[in-house]
Amino acid sequence: MKVIERFLNYIKFDTQSKADVDEYPSTKKQLVLLNHLKDELDNLGILNSIDKYGYLIARIPSNIDKEAPKLALVAHVDTSPDASGENVKARIIDNYNGKEIVLNEEHNIILSPSIFPSLKNNIGQDIVVTDGTTLLGADDKLGVAEIMTIAEYIVNTPEYKHGELVLLFTPDEEVGNGTKYIDIKKVDADFGYTLDGGTVGEVAYENFNAASAKVIIKGKSVHPGSAKNVMLHSVNVAYEFDRLLPDNKRPQNTEDYEGFNHLISINGSVEKSQLTYIIRNHNRGLFEDQKEELINSCEAINKKYGDQTCILEIQDQYFNMNEILVNHRHIVNTAIESIKETNVEPIIEPIRGGTDGARLTYLGLPCPNLGTGGYNFHGPYEYASIQEMNIAVEIVKKIITKTSQL
Ligand SMILES: [Zn+2]
Repeated sequence: MKVIERFLNYIKFDTQSKADVDEYPSTKKQLVLLNHLKDELDNLGILNSIDKYGYLIARIPSNIDKEAPKLALVAHVDTSPDASGENVKARIIDNYNGKEIVLNEEHNIILSPSIFPSLKNNIGQDIVVTDGTTLLGADDKLGVAEIMTIAEYIVNTPEYKHGELVLLFTPDEEVGNGTKYIDIKKVDADFGYTLDGGTVGEVAYENFNAASAKVIIKGKSVHPGSAKNVMLHSVNVAYEFDRLLPDNKRPQNTEDYEGFNHLISINGSVEKSQLTYIIRNHNRGLFEDQKEELINSCEAINKKYGDQTCILEIQDQYFNMNEILVNHRHIVNTAIESIKETNVEPIIEPIRGGTDGARLTYLGLPCPNLGTGGYNFHGPYEYASIQEMNIAVEIVKKIITKTSQL
């Protein structure tokens, strides 16, 4: 089956995940697609198992004589809570001409190259778009479709040589929990790749170091009529705290490798305010410095208004996978070489966010991220290129071959 056929099939499943729920996976409907994939693997004769969390792990044994690294290919089945993934009506535009695409005439929803310049790279290709009312699901059903296509190819092509392969499909990536209950020993691979990126040719192996910070500011509430020199308004102090942080590290002033402290929310009354931040930087040292800036700001507030006026809690969330991948450069290099040999220009950009690959890397499965041929993730402007998805499959086949020769 072609990648596109699989893809169009998988996006029929609504697999939207949900933030802040206790159950795992966060929505039962993700299990429907996971079990469907299990059936497909069974039909292909590929050994697999799914656990109570929904982690679907399949293994394809090596067909070569020598010892080779065990390679994992990883994709997530859920789609973002940011937009509906129900009743996706995909449309294929053959030989895209570079002009505006009316996704939905009734609601005047237009996919335009002036707003999304990446479309210019897709001229002459066949692209898959939405009807403007849902997301497409390329993130990450394109990754799923590409991995399944490769699995089928391997089953049908005994002369194609490869080491042991592990296919891993996960739920709840979009709500930050894609690896929450994963048993990495059960995955049992030496390294892997997530197929969860954008443009084909993309290799991402650097992501943010990430922490969250909760700042509580305590005020002193008295009757406003007799407040002079007594009232301490926690909201004012909260603003003061925020202003102590450097302006050049606010997200709206940063790009590329520049880290930021992002004030997500501020709630308060006279008595008590709470500020919530996320702290992000690719560089671990600078990341620690940014945490230090928050600690210093809190101390300055306490010095001025009294002990315990400011209480700060910082919690690490994830780290830059490059810190580990730097010692396993061959994984990145294999991807880059495979991309070049497929006549695609490698695109290497730091991720200004996180990835499941980062968590897997820190769990012991080094795992850079590869482009799949999808664009504009998480919303109705999402689209995918059929030529690029086919190329993505060819790239991964080369990666498998190269890995088997390591
Ligand atoms: Zn994704």
